[in-house]
Amino acid sequence: MIASPEPLIDAFGRIATDLRISLTDRCSLRCSYCMPAEGLDWLPRGNVLTDAELARLASLFVSLGVRTVRLTGGEPLLRPGLPGVVGMLAALDPAPQISLTTNGVGLARLAQPLADAGLLRINISLDTLDRDRFIEITRRDRISDVFAGVQAAYDAGLSPLKINTVLARGTNLDEAPALLLWALERGYELRFIEHMPLDAQHAWSRADMVTAEEILARLEGEFTIETAEGRGAAPAERFLVTDGPGAAAWATRPGRMGIVASVTRPFCRDCDRLRLTADGALRTCLFAHDETDLLGPLRAGADDAELAELIRAAVRGKQAGHGINSALFVQPARPMSAIGG
Ligand code: SAM
Ligand code: SF4
Repeated sequence: MIASPEPLIDAFGRIATDLRISLTDRCSLRCSYCMPAEGLDWLPRGNVLTDAELARLASLFVSLGVRTVRLTGGEPLLRPGLPGVVGMLAALDPAPQISLTTNGVGLARLAQPLADAGLLRINISLDTLDRDRFIEITRRDRISDVFAGVQAAYDAGLSPLKINTVLARGTNLDEAPALLLWALERGYELRFIEHMPLDAQHAWSRADMVTAEEILARLEGEFTIETAEGRGAAPAERFLVTDGPGAAAWATRPGRMGIVASVTRPFCRDCDRLRLTADGALRTCLFAHDETDLLGPLRAGADDAELAELIRAAVRGKQAGHGINSALFVQPARPMSAIGG
């Protein structure tokens, strides 16, 4: 173990304290804005970090200053023994705060074991409240599983419970106010995410993307929304919803919501995130073209000091910003589901 007082600092003075770990690139859904109906060429199982390898790398990152860990994928609930992975992370010293991003399928069974193992917070992705529309978007008939998962997460005390929603024109844009009302009535925090050029099909188009400005304009027809303070390095701009339909009966008032406007309001200057893919590659940005293989050196016998130097070198090379709005932007080879969203 490295006893290192040196933070993971990049050339622009940003300090990395948040690690997103992808536990698998496989998924139980096929969201049309993320991957094709037939799925993708999944990583061979032997190329995926084992629990022991994950524990070794996570411990190293924590010794280098990582304080928050988010588990994601692909669909992280597909990882066998997930509560054990959470328990392993919770036992690190110092223990990081652990959160999870999931599509919610299978969560009804796993929410309580995950909370018991040390999971603190959860984001559940849900783009519609309508069963037929859910099938159209995800190509799977699983909305009742997701609703059951949301309820189980709430009952397990995973709070604040956040709902992630990607809006698309002609699909679910009209549902934005209904989704917000649904969340407010239950005390969940809805976060709208701008669609990013990270889909496996490379079908993203700026013209089709629903912007933060458009989302706010649509919601402000029905709700009173104010900017909230205290965003820090968080990707979501946060808002207070102070009034709207049925406000007297909302679970909390003001309610909260967020918008992750990665495309139209980039927050790269404050980015404190690193990403570890399921096959052990370190990425310093979702949109990076370079990544640093940690699994190969680890399996070849590298010690902690050697792995730490690889991590430090990668962080030093972190790019200033994602460059989506540059004419020279080129989408990275790995799609969102294979990086870890
Ligand atoms: N499968 C899990 C889920 O859906 O929550 C975790 C991985 S998924 C890639 C994480 C989040 O990224 C989800 O909320 C999903 O809606 C969102 N997402 C997927 N593709 C996206 C894209 N191209 N742009 C913006 N968000 C995307
Ligand atoms: Fe799977 Fe999440 Fe991508 Fe949907 S957004 S296909 S649930 S990885």
